[in-house]
Amino acid sequence: MKAALFLFFLVLWSESKGVLHWLENHLLTCPFKHLTGLDCPGCGAQRSVVALLRGDLITSFKLYPATLPIIGLLVFSAIHLKFELKNGAFIIKFLYIVVTLIIVINYIYKIFTHQLI
Ligand SMILES: [Zn+2]
Repeated sequence: MKAALFLFFLVLWSESKGVLHWLENHLLTCPFKHLTGLDCPGCGAQRSVVALLRGDLITSFKLYPATLPIIGLLVFSAIHLKFELKNGAFIIKFLYIVVTLIIVINYIYKIFTHQLI
């Protein structure tokens, strides 16, 4: 199984344009946007991650400002699960609130600046 996964990723990385090109051309379609034609609060996250993988922090932030905080939340959660930090649960709850606020504020900003279409 590990050998098959290794070969799969080796093929992806050795492709002429690379795995990032493959990711850009295989993004998932947002069902909300597909039905309504409007962005949902999560739209832009995939493109933001691809921009982040390319090393373009500014574009990543412009596409979806919550990407880096979400990654930080996931990393901190993994660290807390491994090392059982003293105030880890409280910090995780705080980070969830911060990430939620960033997503909501970004969505409200998109509404008022007519960026939903
Ligand atoms: Zn969406």
